[in-house]
Amino acid sequence: MFDGVALRARLTGVRDRIARAAGRAGRDPASIRLIAVSKTFSVDHVRAVADGGQVDFGENKVQEALHKIAQTADLQLRWHLIGHVQSNKARKAAAEFHTIHSIDSRALLLKIDEAAGAAHHPVDVLIQVDLANEATKHGATPDQVDGILEAAQPLRATRLRGLMLLPPAGDDPEEARPYFRRLRDLRDEFVARGADRPSLGELSMGMSHDFEVAVEEGATLVRVGTAIFGDRPYV
Ligand SMILES: *Cc1c(COP(=O)(O)O)cnc(C)c1O
Repeated sequence: MFDGVALRARLTGVRDRIARAAGRAGRDPASIRLIAVSKTFSVDHVRAVADGGQVDFGENKVQEALHKIAQTADLQLRWHLIGHVQSNKARKAAAEFHTIHSIDSRALLLKIDEAAGAAHHPVDVLIQVDLANEATKHGATPDQVDGILEAAQPLRATRLRGLMLLPPAGDDPEEARPYFRRLRDLRDEFVARGADRPSLGELSMGMSHDFEVAVEEGATLVRVGTAIFGDRPYV
């Protein structure tokens, strides 16, 4: 079992650290939204953290998330899909999530838009960018982002909100800083070249070990699992 009081204390600790990082960067802490990444943890864990005032939750697998979404339907939670969307899960994802962070192709974007339209459920989306050219990882290269931006413009059921980054894993949070900075610069370049600013307002970057660095570099959405819920059981 778990200790809800301890979970909420860790939640408060993470919130405080976000506020201090925002302060160092001269940013308003209210401009940063914390997403509690509950993957592998139970519905009871989600409820305990929601009791602490947490509204945004993240999951990386559609099937696992659908169960938790259904079991917490009485709470007004916002669910974020932060993992790769398999084509055959696009329909369910579009109908159930508030935000999908992992759009990495035109084809996936169009599929999500069609499904969101059919479900009469508008969905916010972010483009996941691969800045490290990691062949094993998902994400659009900066060149491909252009085409996705263009494809997003006329869509009605999906609203593009920004960019998402999962940098290469490293032990030192400072190793992630250049990637965070690059994502922000890339966004600024797209806006300078005419992209609509509100559709690129969000930067989803930063996890348990590096979210403070991400906040210093402009993150508006941080995805934190372990620092709130504890170590994940390996599944
Ligand atoms: C699991 C996961 C996180 C959270 O990771 P922690 O290190 O536990 O904070 C953030 N983003 C993505 C895409 C994830 O899959």
